[in-house]
Amino acid sequence: MHFDLTADQRKQLLENLLPRLEEYYANTRDLRVAPQLDKEKLRELLAGTDLTTGLPPDEALDSVVDNLLKYQVHVPHPMYYGLYNPRTNFPSILADLIAAYFNPQLAAWSHSPYAAEVENYLVREYGARFGYDRDSVDGTFTSGGAEANLTGLLCALNHAYPDYAHLGYRAFDREPVIYSSDQAHHSVVKAARVAGLGLNAVVSIPTDEGQRMSVDSLRDHLLADTTAGNRPVLVIATAGTTGTAAIDQLPAIAELCQKYSCWFHVDAAFGGAAILNEEYRPWLAGIELADSITTDIHKWLSVPMGTGMLLTRHPDMLNKTFNTPAEYMPREGKELSIVDPYTHTIQWSRRFLGLRMYLSLLVFGWEGYADTIRHHVEIGHYLRDRLAERGWQIVNDTPLPVVCFTWPGVDDPGNYARTVCQRVVDSGEAWLSVYPIKGTDHLRAGITNYATTRADIDRLVELLQRLGVPAATDAN
Ligand SMILES: *Cc1c(COP(=O)(O)O)cnc(C)c1O
Repeated sequence: MHFDLTADQRKQLLENLLPRLEEYYANTRDLRVAPQLDKEKLRELLAGTDLTTGLPPDEALDSVVDNLLKYQVHVPHPMYYGLYNPRTNFPSILADLIAAYFNPQLAAWSHSPYAAEVENYLVREYGARFGYDRDSVDGTFTSGGAEANLTGLLCALNHAYPDYAHLGYRAFDREPVIYSSDQAHHSVVKAARVAGLGLNAVVSIPTDEGQRMSVDSLRDHLLADTTAGNRPVLVIATAGTTGTAAIDQLPAIAELCQKYSCWFHVDAAFGGAAILNEEYRPWLAGIELADSITTDIHKWLSVPMGTGMLLTRHPDMLNKTFNTPAEYMPREGKELSIVDPYTHTIQWSRRFLGLRMYLSLLVFGWEGYADTIRHHVEIGHYLRDRLAERGWQIVNDTPLPVVCFTWPGVDDPGNYARTVCQRVVDSGEAWLSVYPIKGTDHLRAGITNYATTRADIDRLVELLQRLGVPAATDAN
């Protein structure tokens, strides 16, 4: 077989594939949200396909589409109320297709000047929206929030220990300490492991009733650690926690960081996008004081998985942290004042991730994003109101579209939440999760899908009434 396939074959493949994809995209809601899991069956299926010579291409494509239809939680479904996994917007899907055809190499600027400058432009524009100076903000697209948090940590280490790039851990004249709340994303702890600091370098600061980092406790820890001769290197505040979408008190934390010359990183993987609607800006007040910010594009900006961003107001830090010149890299850009992306990132060869965001913006504009962000927020309020109206108790406090709730007065709230959640998932009609608040699981519904409507929320609430409200006799 011709390795390129023939023009006729390509045409026919697209003609067969595209309608199937469109069918999925247009009618996702007709599917069960979650499949029944059967690992053995999947293993058998894969083992049963002989790859020695390959299949007819049409059959190959059909098998992939058939199995994705059957074997995945359909996160693009409007009744998916899960973690921050969006339905991807259509321009961003096409962006992936285009990037795969052209395969721009984002390591060296001179190989893909258009792609590199698009990403630079987005970093500056998005950075400016967070309150950074458009001319000096630096940043990079990452594979997601986890890589962005690791990048923030590495910047903090290079900031605290000027010889870190050369000496590594031997540059530590005092023990580095990292602070984040007990509600911070676990990628913070993972970053400490990857960086060679270890889990124990991360101090978990308790949270208040609203799941926000206790500023008093942070203050006490900073003082105690400094007195003990350690070096507070980094505080990671969260703007929109993964579980309950709580927003830490950024200005107060920023002030403490300044006092202790400690790098201030805000993990706004999900919540950061609220900045795109002028009205919601006050929720993130203080984020402009951060030394660096994590914000995911593949969450609230509704583009395919594998797109995050790290922003920093220090124009020299990424270079200082990552610049590892290599003689064999293309050097046509040497005389220009440009940045080779590989000198600013963990990754080397890199996909044109920014196109997913850029094409979305080219089609919808910043105003389109402001509208869709507002829609999510309003749908979140609508869910909160409907649940409260029917007697459910809302247990989290956030303006962001994440609602944690329970039925008041049940005997064993944790067990109750897990049972109801399982019933909802098993019904195939919706997907939600449980999240532990102060050690007890609660039901959690996040609005992650721009296509979710008020009618969908009504359906979810009816489903919960049916599957979740204890019969009057059980309740006594
Ligand atoms: C999702 C999330 C992360 C991790 O981001 P990935 O894109 O999954 O790598 C980090 N922090 C917070 C607050 C998140 O919600």
